[in-house]
Amino acid sequence: MRKFFSTIFLLMLFVSCGENPKGKNEIEQKEEVAVEQQDTVIKEKKTPKNIFRTFEKLKDTTFVRLADFSDGFAYEMRYATKNNFLKEQVYECAECYTRVITAKALLKANEDFKQSGVRIKFFDCYRPNSVQYKMWKIVPNPQYVANPKKGSIHNKGGAVDITLESLDGEELDMGTDFDFFGKRAYHDNFDLPKEVLDNRKLLKETMEKHGFWSTRTEWWHYNLNGAHKYPIANFKWDCN
Ligand SMILES: [Zn+2]
Repeated sequence: MRKFFSTIFLLMLFVSCGENPKGKNEIEQKEEVAVEQQDTVIKEKKTPKNIFRTFEKLKDTTFVRLADFSDGFAYEMRYATKNNFLKEQVYECAECYTRVITAKALLKANEDFKQSGVRIKFFDCYRPNSVQYKMWKIVPNPQYVANPKKGSIHNKGGAVDITLESLDGEELDMGTDFDFFGKRAYHDNFDLPKEVLDNRKLLKETMEKHGFWSTRTEWWHYNLNGAHKYPIANFKWDCN
């Protein structure tokens, strides 16, 4: 019994002697971990959960630049180039703005797309009403351009023209280019390769899940439900 107690004492002594240096190391390690966690928290500010915390302070109708809230999207703003059906550049510079309510839904949709290894690529977002007038002047045909007096949901900050690309930046085959006006761009045209139909299905189903609806003749165009109630806007972003 005495031998047992002396063994316990020796063990305690050993443990207590080893405690200080070991404990110090643990504190140091904890400090290092804390710094790493701090870095991670900063990086995580770009995740949707934290982004929505930022959005919470903003009204649903406020216009926001998507790139300020996420780096997970891709952009090819065609109307800031001549590579569009108008063959003219109608934006001074390439930016993608929407109302907060639309931006929130797009971020959620993009998180979903990422699960399938793809992300949203924008061709057009909010379009100032003055730009709608410019487009109407070039193509005054309601079949291709919404009458600026009535306005388009793009003018209300609730519509986007999009496709999908892989996380490596390779665009998915949707059967036609953006702004191809013809039957091949219709959602109800099923006379297309299976890959194209699968890609369009992924785009449409995911967007619908997050509150968007499509138009029959343009596979790239999506409106946020209820966005028609927002006023036509003419806010212009700064290009400097
Ligand atoms: Zn559109």
